[in-house]
This record gives sequence, structure tokens and C-alpha cells, in this order.
Amino acid sequence: MKFTRREMLITGLGLMVAGGTGCTQTPTSLTRRPGTPWPGSISQPTHANAAARTVAAPQPAQPYRAPAAVGPPGFRPRSWWTRSGPIRSKVNPMKGVSRITVHHEGHTPVWFTDEQSTKARLEQVRNIHTRDRRWGDIGYHFVIDRAGRVIEGRNIAYQGAHVSNQNPHNVGVMLLGNFEKQSPSQAQLTALQSTLRHLMAKYRVPVRRVYTHRELGPTVCPGRNLQPRVASLRTNGGLA
Ligand SMILES: [Zn+2]
Repeated sequence: MKFTRREMLITGLGLMVAGGTGCTQTPTSLTRRPGTPWPGSISQPTHANAAARTVAAPQPAQPYRAPAAVGPPGFRPRSWWTRSGPIRSKVNPMKGVSRITVHHEGHTPVWFTDEQSTKARLEQVRNIHTRDRRWGDIGYHFVIDRAGRVIEGRNIAYQGAHVSNQNPHNVGVMLLGNFEKQSPSQAQLTALQSTLRHLMAKYRVPVRRVYTHRELGPTVCPGRNLQPRVASLRTNGGLA
């Protein structure tokens, strides 16, 4: 991403006001004219309260050893984009996977495909989730960028923070972009399919337990241009 300093400030401020990741947005935000800064008037995040709100405890001194990274073939482990671990006092163990939920990021449309921009965007999302939302880590377990890279977000050993009140045993997969305003790339759709198939096989999740965010709560996420693609994947045998 090549943001000017001012754009970064505006974006940072706006994201905070908007209440977390873009897939928390309410439909009101979608009336925003293209090119305008994030509106300060958005004050009603929907799934922004998704995370467990554990009070921070002092961090123990022993070094953190990350659980093994698990993902589809070719995925990038978390160490690809950050050296930070989760705030362990604020994350809960997953204790088994029984469903998967697909999201879009939902902020400004994403057209970049280079590694550095993806890494910067992931760090931005993690900052919003940990600093502004006060969650224990980036909310999603996997992120798929526009080039089709599959990247580990929150380690799957930990419960995510991506669907209000429905995070237990729920793997969150987020595609970078705003699919109310753009369409996912073919590379993203291919990577989404292989990621879902991998997770379904590994954790024995049936196709009826693969959801989109809007199917579980009041949100437009994952956007009108991704929702039907997930729906057809479920019915055309693409996840069989
Ligand atoms: Zn979402």
C-alpha cells in the first residue's frame, strides 16, 4: 500500500471510529461516496463486539512458544508477516473445530498483490484488533490476499474473534478486499476453495457447517460479490 501520511492518519482514525475490521461495518457505511475518508459518523459496529472481553493480566515472563502453524499446502505461517504473538491472557483455546466462517476485510478496496503491501495490511488489521478493539490478536485464523496467498493469522489453537457470540470452534477465513465494491480475484477464489477443502478434511467439517458471516449475524460481510461465490461452492460440489 502506498498511503500518504495524511491518508494513513485518516484511515487509522476512521478505522477506529468505524469500530474494528471492515467486516464489522453496518450497511450505512456503504453509502459512503468513493474516495471520501472513513466517515466519523459510523458509530454502530455490528460484530465489533465479537471478541471475548477478558481483562488483561500481567504477562508471564517465560518466552512464548507458538503452537505449530497449520494450514493448506503452500500457506504462509504467521512468522511471514509478524514477529508478534497473541496476548495470551486474552485468547482462549479453540478446543476443537466444528465450523468455518468466510469474511471479507471490508475496508477500502484492495488491488495490490505484492507481499509487502499484504504484510503491512495484516499488521494494520492486527493493530486495530489488539490496540483499538483490545482483543488478544488479529481476529481471523486465515487471510487470503488478492494474489491468492493464504496466510496464517491467529493460530488455530486459539479461538478467533470474528463472529459475535459465535466464535467457539469456529475458524475465521478472511479475504482481503471489499466485495461490496469489487469482486474477488480468481486467485483468491481458488485459494479460498483449497483452504476450505483443507480445513473441512482436517477437522471433519461438513459442507453445511461452512458459513459466511452474514449467515450468522447482521452484516453485509462477505459482500454481495463474494456471498454468491461461497454459496455456489457449497452447492456445485466445489467443497466435496
Ligand atoms: Zn465478517
